[in-house]
Amino acid sequence: MGKKYKHIETAIIHDGYEDKEMLGSLAPPIFQTSTFTFDSAEQGELRFSGKEDGYIYSRLGNPTVTILEKKIATLENGERGLAFSSGMAAVSAVLIALSKANDHILCSSGLYGCTFGLLTMMKDKYNMKVDFSNMDTEEEIRSKVKPETAVIYIETPINPTMRLVDLEMVSKVAKEFDIPVVVDNTFSTPYLQKPLDLGCDVVIHSATKYIGGHGDVIAGLVVGKKEFVDKVALTTLKDFGGVMSPFDAWLLIRGLKTLPLRMDRHCENAKKIMEHLKNHPKVDNVFYPHESTNPDFSIGKKQMRKGGGMVSFEIKGNKKDAQQFLNALSMIKIAVSLGDAESLIQHPATMTHAVVPEESRKKMGITDQLIRLSVGLEAWPDIWDDLKQALDQLK
Ligand SMILES: *Cc1c(COP(=O)(O)O)cnc(C)c1O
Repeated sequence: MGKKYKHIETAIIHDGYEDKEMLGSLAPPIFQTSTFTFDSAEQGELRFSGKEDGYIYSRLGNPTVTILEKKIATLENGERGLAFSSGMAAVSAVLIALSKANDHILCSSGLYGCTFGLLTMMKDKYNMKVDFSNMDTEEEIRSKVKPETAVIYIETPINPTMRLVDLEMVSKVAKEFDIPVVVDNTFSTPYLQKPLDLGCDVVIHSATKYIGGHGDVIAGLVVGKKEFVDKVALTTLKDFGGVMSPFDAWLLIRGLKTLPLRMDRHCENAKKIMEHLKNHPKVDNVFYPHESTNPDFSIGKKQMRKGGGMVSFEIKGNKKDAQQFLNALSMIKIAVSLGDAESLIQHPATMTHAVVPEESRKKMGITDQLIRLSVGLEAWPDIWDDLKQALDQLK
């Protein structure tokens, strides 16, 4: 599908859109329409039967949304992309399409809070089993696989502990059992990590984060083999109906163009901030994918082009100190979400991971002193100045 350019920086700008098909419009038009008219009753019949290509109704497909879907497919080296109204709409559409009652799902040892919530609901409602694994070795994965395992579901880097899962190794083992591997690639984006190239089957994004990049849209994306994505398009997207609006697709196409530039700056800034945090007396531990003390450092070097824009760290103290530290910041915003131009900071134990029971949270390494920072695009010395003055206030 439409892959013309080898370099992602070029493909991200030019692939998936033909201005000559749109009256020469450099920026893609926003097809703000709910439905599409047919030339005749017979054409309507042909469109519905699938014998003729063409748009029918915007829940089934929209030209502006299609441009974005083509772009994400080429960027992830997948056959087809599909857009959703949120990252969670994408996660739920994929998980429900791949599983049925009584199935088992094997997950990485940390998950986005709402994905954890969704799996808990599916467990209760459909009598499913859900297991978590560090996926450190092939044997460990084999020991957790059951005859009814329907999906292996992975986040890497794991939020907020920045532990990593070796995607090539997991997909090799999964192939022995013919189990599809689904990867939430939100933290890395296709610029830093390409799970499909490593043998995984489906990639999911919360496009709300780095892909949009400007904190102004909630959206999700899925990429994979055409056969599977076609099925999702006609079932858990069409019938649950969590479709993306044309305007949101337009915002994301616009955001995507600068993804490589932005990611380079996010990564560069994050590295600087991480190094400074490590040397501050009020900071105990710093977690980052490309940091030599990360137990998964070698995996990070192998599968991620750079370390990403997310840094977590533990301050010396307790929950109250963590909150006092956040309150003392002046430029950095206290907010969940990530991947925006603005640096955003949050307290996972009481915010993004508050839904995770305390015991699981502790097992995942989410302590009351843990802070997660989405390093923004500001000049890094300004980001560090703000962090430092707030850390210096801690007793
Ligand atoms: C934000 C996020 C999601 C959910 O996406 P929404 O767009 O908020 O629905 C899923 N996975 C990860 C890793 C996220 O950061």
